[in-house]
Amino acid sequence: MKVNRVKCMYCGGCVGVCPQNAMELKDTILSIDPVKCNNCGLCFKFCPAGALVREDGK
Ligand code: SF4
Ligand code: SF4
Repeated sequence: MKVNRVKCMYCGGCVGVCPQNAMELKDTILSIDPVKCNNCGLCFKFCPAGALVREDGK
């Protein structure tokens, strides 16, 4: 999972949704730990801004 930093509104909602605790929001930078992320897609479904981009093409 990757974040589109132009679309992201820094709402932080996805951080709470992630079951892997892979996301961290610091000021206006959302980062996703690629080691922790298992591409479950929950944040992708949740994001109201469409700012999360799947890397597995699903
Ligand atoms: S839910 Fe979407 S808009 Fe909100 S912080 Fe996450 S990526 Fe950004
Ligand atoms: S795809 Fe799943 S594990 Fe990866 S950052 Fe999103 S919610 Fe977390």
